Amino acid sequence: MPFVLTILGSSSAAPTSERNPSAQVLNTGKHLFLLDCAEGTQMQLRKMRLKMSSIERVFITHLHGDHFFGLIGLMTTWHLLGRKDVLHIYSVPELKEALDVMMKVSRTTLNYQVEYHFIEPELHSLIFEDKFIEVYTLPLNHRMPTCGYLFKEKPKSLNLNKSAILKLALPYPLLQDLKNGKDITLPDGKIISNTSLTLPPSKQLSYAYCTDTSYFEPLVKYITGIDVLFHEATFMESEVKLAAEKLHSTASEAAQIAKLAGVKQLIIGHFSSRYKELDPLLLEATEVFSNTVLAKDGFVFKF
Ligand SMILES: [Zn+2]
Ligand SMILES: [Zn+2]
Repeated sequence: MPFVLTILGSSSAAPTSERNPSAQVLNTGKHLFLLDCAEGTQMQLRKMRLKMSSIERVFITHLHGDHFFGLIGLMTTWHLLGRKDVLHIYSVPELKEALDVMMKVSRTTLNYQVEYHFIEPELHSLIFEDKFIEVYTLPLNHRMPTCGYLFKEKPKSLNLNKSAILKLALPYPLLQDLKNGKDITLPDGKIISNTSLTLPPSKQLSYAYCTDTSYFEPLVKYITGIDVLFHEATFMESEVKLAAEKLHSTASEAAQIAKLAGVKQLIIGHFSSRYKELDPLLLEATEVFSNTVLAKDGFVFKF
């Protein structure tokens, strides 16, 4: 299964008529993850026809409003729709404080459970894993504690060579043995080597979501060789000083990080509302790292 990434918001703090602030959905085939949840996220989920009720985990990068002001509304809608599944939220502890106040003053008691997982944004830590995937925090450099997230598939089992298998009519337990790399013994005692019945496993996919941050080289070692990097590119190079002051990045700085890390593809986003046209940002980035694309609201990437 490929990863499917849907961009719900590609703007920085102030939305425009065409760009919502930050939110993305990552479908790993086994999980539906929400990355940031700015104002307007639930409308975007509806427009993109994503199955809201299947979102099990929400990862918040930091507590600037353009990354979490939509969460209280979405949580309330889940309540109204009768959600029963536990919702897992990854964030610094202050998010819980803010949401608790909002729930209290609006006299809302959710009919589902919320489990908070408090993260330490300055660390590179494993914060979630199951048999399919690992999720790590990625320390970033911004005006408040901020981290990105790295989603990395675990090693996969071997694929069965269907045409070779069909001739043998093997029972299920032996198929599992093959997937796990074992040779098999037939009822007549004949041993068949694993390599004659299997194909290499599909490759392990990886995605890093990095926003908001200044140009920050210590990030590179954690994302080296990954498939796709989303990196914020709030400004063009003409605003490089402003970017440094505000601890944001320019498009070419984002591309420089992608180049140093040797990622396969770069997606840039979190664009300042001052830019009506985004092609000039793309041009600046591609001069440094050619395989760069723009994030635009509603874009879907499969990789
Ligand atoms: Zn932001
Ligand atoms: Zn920010």
